[in-house]
Amino acid sequence: MSKPIVAIVGRPNVGKSTLFNRIVGSRIAIVEDMPGVTRDRLYQDAEWQGREFTLVDTGGLDFAEDVITEQIRKQAELAIREADAIIFLVDAREGLTIIDEEVAKQLRLADKPVLLVANKVEQFDASKIPFYDFYQLGLGDPVPVSASEGLNTGDLLDELVKLLPEQEDDPYSPDTIRIAVIGRPNVGKSSLVNAILGEERVIVSNIPGTTRDAIDSPFERNGKSYVIVDTAGMRRRNRIDLAAERYSVVRALRAVDRCDVALMILDATEGVAEQDKKIVGYAHEKGKAIVLVVNKWDLVVKDDKTMNRFERKIREEITFLNYIPIIYVSALTKQRLPKILDMVDFVAEEASRRVATADLNNLIREATQATPPPADKHRRLKIFYVTQGGVKPPTFILFVNDPELMHFSYQRYLENKLRDTYGFEGTPIRIFLRKRE
Ligand code: GDP
Ligand code: GDP
Repeated sequence: MSKPIVAIVGRPNVGKSTLFNRIVGSRIAIVEDMPGVTRDRLYQDAEWQGREFTLVDTGGLDFAEDVITEQIRKQAELAIREADAIIFLVDAREGLTIIDEEVAKQLRLADKPVLLVANKVEQFDASKIPFYDFYQLGLGDPVPVSASEGLNTGDLLDELVKLLPEQEDDPYSPDTIRIAVIGRPNVGKSSLVNAILGEERVIVSNIPGTTRDAIDSPFERNGKSYVIVDTAGMRRRNRIDLAAERYSVVRALRAVDRCDVALMILDATEGVAEQDKKIVGYAHEKGKAIVLVVNKWDLVVKDDKTMNRFERKIREEITFLNYIPIIYVSALTKQRLPKILDMVDFVAEEASRRVATADLNNLIREATQATPPPADKHRRLKIFYVTQGGVKPPTFILFVNDPELMHFSYQRYLENKLRDTYGFEGTPIRIFLRKRE
């Protein structure tokens, strides 16, 4: 299920960043910290009363005085396009400004829920707050808050979650393979998706995804069902700037949340960028199967070692992901395009593989005999029993005498044994430890 995206929009200095920090930092639990991806805190997952959402801070983008109006118009336009709900923040101390009125006009015309919030209210004496002015914006009663003091932000969140779109059930049958196509602008995502959809039987185009704006493209091949999730996030890519980039990363993360297989697209002429690592790292942490697709292979001058060199370079860049298969394609010449879906099928099966308990226990017994588990002072880790707890990703539960005795390197060793024996290509593996006396 996908989390709705909430944007905070408003003039500079009304308190957008302060409110963002207030919401994600203190008053509500940060559900997950998207390691690496969110260290810049420009978007953050949050939860209020059981509803999860991703908050995007559109503040902090510096611009010169003379272009403020234009920039805010653009900020609002992006929010209208990309977010599922908008917090429109105004400054109760300064009162209504012309820019506020312009933004309000824009927001009124849009088909997105808007919550009007008046910030910098430290005293809740109605006569001192220019509520009437704000009421004229035609966006309902403003919710008064003080972001810096944390006053009334609970009411704000109560109102906000009422505006979030209903979380719909996943409309696809359980055996449908959900594919997320991710990668930076211009690597060829749209070209590849169009090429794939052009070849296969598209069932119904434009099925709405689980949030308002996600457009999914379902299709069939050899009697199997697939859906490429959030193809809408892919279409708009002209004039990518800082603010647009921010939303596009959030969309990519939400698409990954909903997928079974993430297709990470790279441009053969550019290689791996920092953002690629973050998103692929996110997919890994979420337990998603992953295929690396190196596109524009037609542009590379090749000899018989080019592919090997390329592969080595990528694996050096993304060291933690040596289980991910890499394929080299061209959307332009259609070279090896059918391989993409073959590979999707393959890693989806690997991610769903179940291993019989007896076989697992044999494997672990042999592994521990070959290399004994780590010991701490006088105690040695003992593995009594192992069982597969689940699939997608394959998850193994080790019953041990004391989980504290496990070392990272030994766990890695066991993971490698599992991979050597059973493959699990393209899928993360999880190992959990349970204490048993
Ligand atoms: P942004 O440009 O919209 O992101 O605004 P900031 O969050 O950077 O805040 C702008 C200024 O307003 C800062 O000096 C904040 O300390 C101040 N500020 C933010 N929220 C409040 C508030 O609730 N009350 C008061 N008095 N000041 C605030
Ligand atoms: P997106 O932003 O990731 O969706 O990328 P597009 O699909 O829009 O492609 C960006 C540009 O790269 C376009 O000009 C495409 O024609 C071009 N392109 C895409 N795939 C290939 C390819 O395999 N080879 C070459 N030479 N160009 C490609």
